[in-house]
Order: sequence, then structure tokens, then C-alpha cells
Amino acid sequence: MRRIAIVGSGPSGCFTAQALLKARPGWTVDVFDTLPVPFGLVRYGVAPDHQGTKAITRQFERVFERQGARFFGNVTLGRDVTLEALRGAYDAVVLATGLAGDRDHGLGEASGIVGAGALTRSLYDHPDASHLPDVRGDVIVLGNGNVAVDLLRLLAKTADELQDSDLGPAASAWLAARPVKSLTILGRSAAAAARFDPVMIRELGKLQGVTIRVTDLPPAGGNKTVEALAALDGIATGPRSVLFRFGCQPAGIGTDAGGRIRALRVEGPSGPEILPCDTLITAIGFRCDGALDRDVLIAGAEDAETGRIAPGLYAAGWFRRGPRGTIPENRADSIALAERIVADVEAMPVTQRAGVDVLPESHKVVDWAAWKRLDAIETGQAPPGRCRTKISTRHDMLKLSRQSENAP
Ligand SMILES: Cc1cc2nc3c(=O)[nH]c(=O)nc-3n(C[C@H](O)[C@H](O)[C@H](O)COP(=O)(O)OP(=O)(O)OC[C@H]3O[C@@H](n4cnc5c(N)ncnc54)[C@H](O)[C@@H]3O)c2cc1C
Repeated sequence: MRRIAIVGSGPSGCFTAQALLKARPGWTVDVFDTLPVPFGLVRYGVAPDHQGTKAITRQFERVFERQGARFFGNVTLGRDVTLEALRGAYDAVVLATGLAGDRDHGLGEASGIVGAGALTRSLYDHPDASHLPDVRGDVIVLGNGNVAVDLLRLLAKTADELQDSDLGPAASAWLAARPVKSLTILGRSAAAAARFDPVMIRELGKLQGVTIRVTDLPPAGGNKTVEALAALDGIATGPRSVLFRFGCQPAGIGTDAGGRIRALRVEGPSGPEILPCDTLITAIGFRCDGALDRDVLIAGAEDAETGRIAPGLYAAGWFRRGPRGTIPENRADSIALAERIVADVEAMPVTQRAGVDVLPESHKVVDWAAWKRLDAIETGQAPPGRCRTKISTRHDMLKLSRQSENAP
């Protein structure tokens, strides 16, 4: 019997389990997650108004329900089990723990500055999130990737435009009440180098309550992103002002006596500028903020390309690659990684391993059946106009998963 532990049940963990069990259906594949609920950023990153993207979870469900992977939620690597213990208990351990921290912006501390990761976690009811921040006035979203566009779109939408999402009651009320005067999305690079998906840019053209301006655009010359941006310029469906700017390097911030950001200094395309700014949302990438020393592990990896860190230890997804790539890109990586693991493990002598028994018996694991009970509660408690209301604390997740187990 070969045993594989995958730490992290986001896309890369699920795709790796899927590929391993497809290649070797008789193996034991155990997927651990620090959260009592699966799916990582599909649940807590993908925007609530993009339910089509979240439908990938149906494919992941089959990994646990038909292919035989086992889910062990509420297990934190580094707290409930050490990496050394896990490596001793399994033939191979895959680190698929993602990158949860916001990259440093280097502009100094001030209230009114919030990272996109922290903001999305608060908006999407992540159990470890802080309170919803005070977003108001002239809002600048710094970044030229899809996460910046997600946040711009959510902040620009009217309440009606959020129908059928899984946005919770607190976030819905927060979005409806936010006193946002203007929204500027600010890119450091030129428009032609922006990393926006043109499909997501075109989607902004459907917004119902906005007036959009796009500046600093070069001739499109076949660049799909620039074409999509040019088509947005001049759209006027309502009062909320949305401005796209490019080629602006942030150089510093101005704050008021209370320590709140009031201005962003930039080196713009035609020299230094001071932009009014009451809220700065930084969407400039992510870093590892967990117990694992990711940078050291990846820098010292035997083969960082396929994800082999050391014998029996592998890295997948964002943990391996850094904060780049969409959900489908993790699939291709995971298939290649699974092939590597199968070859490596089959070249090893068969050894008796403890597997999941490495966890203390008293540890409160949330298994797949318990998650399905939580899932049913969340979809069952959704109010009209919403497809799900997430349970938002670990305490409630643990309590409800056990309560419903004992229910008649
Ligand atoms: C805000 C945002 C929006 C996005 N929107 C889209 C989109 O619309 N479409 C798209 O294709 N891509 C999108 N992406 C990218 C996509 O989410 C990533 O490509 C993908 O989630 C990376 O998968 P992963 O499994 O490597 O990491 P993650 O999805 O982050 O999964 C990591 C998992 O590891 C768990 N974990 C972390 N630490 C530990 C630990 N110590 N012990 C146990 N478990 C642990 C976490 O709880 C999590 O479940 C978005 C990303 C972000 C940040």
C-alpha cells in the first residue's frame, strides 16, 4: 500500500489527488487542510459573482466521492502535525498550501491601506479574516491583474448586480453602504503589459451604474487587452466614476493628522503627480505567510520545475510557482507532478507507514461527510438572491459539522 499526503485542498491539491488516483487507483491519497472546509481560493478567492468559475468544485468533489481521496479538514501543518512527522507517515508529501499573505507595498503604514488578500478574505467570510475594512472616498486599486479587476468590479456593482452570488449578509450590507466617491485602477506598467484577462475587462462593459474613462492607452496594434480597455472608455451607465491609469509608479503616501491615507504620490507618464486617495487597495501579488519557510524550500529544491523538493517531498500550485496562474494552469502542473511522484514512489521499497494515524486520536478532524453536511447547511440557509451563505467561523464550522452528524 502506497500512501500520499497532500497538504492543501485548493485547486493544486485537488488536481494532484485526481491525477494520482487516476494513475494509481489503489493508492491511499489523504488531503489535509487547515480549514474545516475544502477548495482553498476557489471558495475564498474567486469572486462571488463568478459562480461559473467556482463550478470546478463539482470536478473536485468526484475526487473524494468516486476516486477515493480522503479529506482531513481542520489539520494545520506546522501546528497539528509537523512536516517531519508527516514525511515519516507517508511515502510522499505534497505541499499545496498556496500563498495567503499580501505582498509588501513598501509605501509605509497608514490606515486606509488594505491588501487585496486581506480584503477578499473579509468579503468572502474566511474564518481567519479580520473585520471588513473602512473603504471610502477616492479609492485607488493598485495592480494590473485579475484580482484588481475583481475588486474594482465588486466595488462598482449595484446591489442588483450581485444577485445569485454567494456574498454573505455582512459583505452585502457593507458593499451596499460603502461611501465610495471614485474608483481608480492604477497600473505600474504600460497598458500593453497589463496582466488583465481581456474577458474580465470586457465584462466591466456590462456594469450598470458607472462612468468609465481609460487614459494612457497606446494604439492597440492587435493587443487584446488594449483593445478591450479602449472599448470601455466613455461607457456611461451611472454615476460611479471608474478611471483606468497606466505607467504610474507609486512613490509615497500623504496622510492626515489621524494617520489615514489622503494622497498617493506617483511618478506618472508625464512626471510626478499627487492623486487624492482615501483608500488604497494593493493588489500586487501574494507571499507565503504560513509556518513553512517556502523560499528556502523552493530555492533548495532538487527539481523546482517538476516540484520535487527532496526525496518524498514535493511542491504544487502557487506554493511552487509563486502567485501566478489560473485554476486550469494548476491542473497541467499537477498532472506532471503526479507522474513524477508515481515514478519516484514506485522506485522506492515498500515500507509500512502510519498514514493518517500520525494525528493524535483526540484531534477533531472534519472529514468529507462532515464537509457535505456543512455544505448542505450553507446552501440551505442562503436567502433569496444568494446561492450560499458561508459559515464564517471555525467554531461554528466545527460545532455544526458535529451537531448535524448527531441529528436524527
Ligand atoms: C482573489 C483571487 C481571485 C482569483 N480568481 C480566479 C479566477 O476567477 N479564476 C481563476 O482561474 N483563478 C483565480 N485565481 C487564482 C487561483 O485561485 C489559483 O490559481 C489557485 O487557487 C492556486 O491553487 P493552490 O491550490 O496552489 O492554492 P490555494 O487555492 O490557495 O489552496 C491552498 C490551500 O492550502 C491550505 N493551507 C494553507 N496553509 C496550510 C497549512 N499550514 N496546513 C494545512 N493546509 C494549509 C489553505 O487553507 C488552502 O485551502 C484567483 C486568486 C485570487 C487570490
